Amino acid sequence: MKFLLIILDGAGDIGEETPLSKANKPNMDFLAKRGVTGLINIGYKKKADSDVGYLTLLGCYSEKEYPGRGYLEALGIGVEPEKDDVVIRGNFATLGEDGNIIDRRAGRDERGLDGLAEKLDGMEIDGVRFTAKRSAGHRIVIALRGNNLSDNIIPNDPQKVNVPLPQVGAKDPSAKFTASVLNKFVYKANKILVNEEINKEREFPANTVLIRNAGKRKTTLTFKERFGLKGCCVAGIPIAKGVARFLGMDVIEVPGATGLPVTNLSGKTDAVIKFLDNYDFIFLHINGTDTLSHSRKPEKKKEFIEKIDREIGRMLEKADLNETVFMVTCDHISASSPSFKGYEHLTDPVPVLISGDAIKPDNTKNFDEKSAEKGSLRIETTGLIPFVLKLASLG
Ligand code: ZN
Ligand code: ZN
Repeated sequence: MKFLLIILDGAGDIGEETPLSKANKPNMDFLAKRGVTGLINIGYKKKADSDVGYLTLLGCYSEKEYPGRGYLEALGIGVEPEKDDVVIRGNFATLGEDGNIIDRRAGRDERGLDGLAEKLDGMEIDGVRFTAKRSAGHRIVIALRGNNLSDNIIPNDPQKVNVPLPQVGAKDPSAKFTASVLNKFVYKANKILVNEEINKEREFPANTVLIRNAGKRKTTLTFKERFGLKGCCVAGIPIAKGVARFLGMDVIEVPGATGLPVTNLSGKTDAVIKFLDNYDFIFLHINGTDTLSHSRKPEKKKEFIEKIDREIGRMLEKADLNETVFMVTCDHISASSPSFKGYEHLTDPVPVLISGDAIKPDNTKNFDEKSAEKGSLRIETTGLIPFVLKLASLG
């Protein structure tokens, strides 16, 4: 038996009619009709963070073993931090001449960022060595190696613009040294970045770095150790790849898979079809649904879901339900309506469908938020994979 887990990032939505309920998606509906649907309570407390969502859906989240987003992002771009390294996930940002933050993402302009990250790579401050590497979009990963480092820092990300750039702080005395070298790093980075040619051309120069989430390496049981399945991941964004690597899964690189609505979806489908022969379990991640929620484009989100559905149709032609269990879900709800106030990620339970010949169907006919509410499944936190394995073995 093979298992395919498709996580459509932030695909679930709120309101009477949603992109998922309005989309013409015969293949997802076919899977729902042939299988069971319901809701998963991911168990988010205050915030719905995607990486926690993926780890939970994959059956592997534990608060104690969670290494932090910076560490996972680093793994996603091929940086392999050592045991006591502190790993930061940051943003290139724009600082005005008055010392105020003008744009927290440097205008989301990706030009020249690889080169700018390289300029910051290899710095040494007070015996701490800095590795800097650009991640997706405006993001940068910074790894610190040295003695007495702590990830218990307070970010210098003000979360808003037209305010002065704060200092990195320490949550406890043990992090004071780390905060101090990070402040020196940000200061030096400013000095270097300001003079870079590319920044003279950019409307929003990438002339500073916001230090955001910090983390340290932790180990956890691999996916294979937990569930006995050899798994791989097909994804565009570093954080999804990082989660997979953290769990010991192979990452299949698909050229042109960007994590944006403009991505190589068919290339990802081809990878899934090809690698189902070599693996027991595939984690397919598609991010565009979330991106379109953040840009508040419900109609485009609906169209993107329709596009994904056609790809699922192609998978169904090759991966027989007789041998493959399909799971389709999302890591959190994302509100795409322009009238919604607040941050788009919501902590509500997410819709899920499980389908395969081994699974006895319930009464649902469609895959969307409302139908899932009427579906027979109620899964708590990390329960999806153990539940599916049990169903498949009984079927
Ligand atoms: Zn997400
Ligand atoms: Zn998001």
